[in-house]
Amino acid sequence: MNLGFIYNLATGKNIVMISVEEALEKILSSIHVMGEEEVSLLDSLGRVIAEDVYSHLTIPPWNNSAMDGYAIIAEDVKSASKENPVRFRVLEDLPAGKVSERKIKRGESIRIMTGAPIPEGADAVIMNEVTEKDGEFVKILSPVSVNENIRPAGEDIKIGDLLLKKGKLLVPSDIGIMASIQKSRVTVFQRPRVAILSTGDELVDIDEPITKGKIVNSNSYSLEAQVTDAGGIPISLGIAKDTRDDLSKKLNSGLGADVLITSAGISVGDYDFVKDVFTDLGMTMKFWKVAMKPGKPVAFGDIKGKPVFGLPGNPTASMLCFELFVRPSLLKMQGRSDLFRKGVTAESLEDIKKKPGRRHFIRTITSCKDGQYYFKTTGAQGSGMLTSMVLANSLAIIPEDLSILKKGEKTRIILLDERI
Ligand code: AMP
Ligand code: MG
Repeated sequence: MNLGFIYNLATGKNIVMISVEEALEKILSSIHVMGEEEVSLLDSLGRVIAEDVYSHLTIPPWNNSAMDGYAIIAEDVKSASKENPVRFRVLEDLPAGKVSERKIKRGESIRIMTGAPIPEGADAVIMNEVTEKDGEFVKILSPVSVNENIRPAGEDIKIGDLLLKKGKLLVPSDIGIMASIQKSRVTVFQRPRVAILSTGDELVDIDEPITKGKIVNSNSYSLEAQVTDAGGIPISLGIAKDTRDDLSKKLNSGLGADVLITSAGISVGDYDFVKDVFTDLGMTMKFWKVAMKPGKPVAFGDIKGKPVFGLPGNPTASMLCFELFVRPSLLKMQGRSDLFRKGVTAESLEDIKKKPGRRHFIRTITSCKDGQYYFKTTGAQGSGMLTSMVLANSLAIIPEDLSILKKGEKTRIILLDERI
């Protein structure tokens, strides 16, 4: 493992730059699953279920027809063919939802629609396509075996079956199966509320004039979008000035949330007070610097047991640190077990040079041809260049010790877009 050491002028101490794995280990070991809440059936879509769901019903409740056709006794049509049709009286019409009071005897039939309960006495359904209507009668042109086109009671679900296990991420079919047993309320894990504070004297908000020296606070928006995308509930704390007072006041206002995220002011600049204010608020700092690029100045700790992430200010670094560290944390809090995106091994279509020492996360465009993955970079990789994220569908991981990944060599890729 390639660990860098940074001499901290302010404290006179060496600060260890930890690896991405160590950072993740420290974060995830201190993140806990949220409490439970009951929501309406449709609101549970995309959430993790916090209860086992057993069936108290048999589905289908009775033997029913799998086809539109005629309920008959199979023995009656043993020798039926186009040339020698068997003629039946049709006793009644049985649409889905109606139950027949009659019992079929030899030589009798009942017209039946898909889903209607099989009348007493019948042991098969002959489908419409091999019959011919003949006034009050029907001609059957083919034999049928016993039980053919009959869906038996309980073929799908029996009383006491375990339908959904606690911990499952709910998808549309889960919603359907719960509806089929009339379950209208579902216990799921709560979504974390995530307070986001952007910091910097240079920031103006989305609807303010951009005067000289100012830039728009885009990080709050990309972070809020990332929180929403990861199933969390974003709470914007707006923009704090680069003063301890303002930072302290605004950070305090976010302590009611489940997670606190700050953007910028976490490096070693003269106006980077975020770390100091974290300390003032009683934060136990678990790490500050990670051997990665972009995103080296990223801090994590907790204030009274509440996870706090100090993300870097550069827009791409901020998004990347969220992706690597905050997203898995939010998923874990919601009871998810699949915390990471799909990864593949892919071949580089170009030389990628870097300084050894840190792990680089290169914004890339990955494609798949004949089962083999290939990638190229999105172009310039400045950590302030949000266009590199916009163009990317993936991140290529270039290991710490490498100084070049040559064209034709392979490396691991994180798929941001899993449709590749
Ligand atoms: P800092 O870590 O405070 O030195 O910020 C690093 C870089 O990120 C600077 O160029 C900032 O202007 C930029 N930056 C900081 N906060 C934001 C933000 N909320 N939106 C966009 N860019 C930002
Ligand atoms: Mg700043």
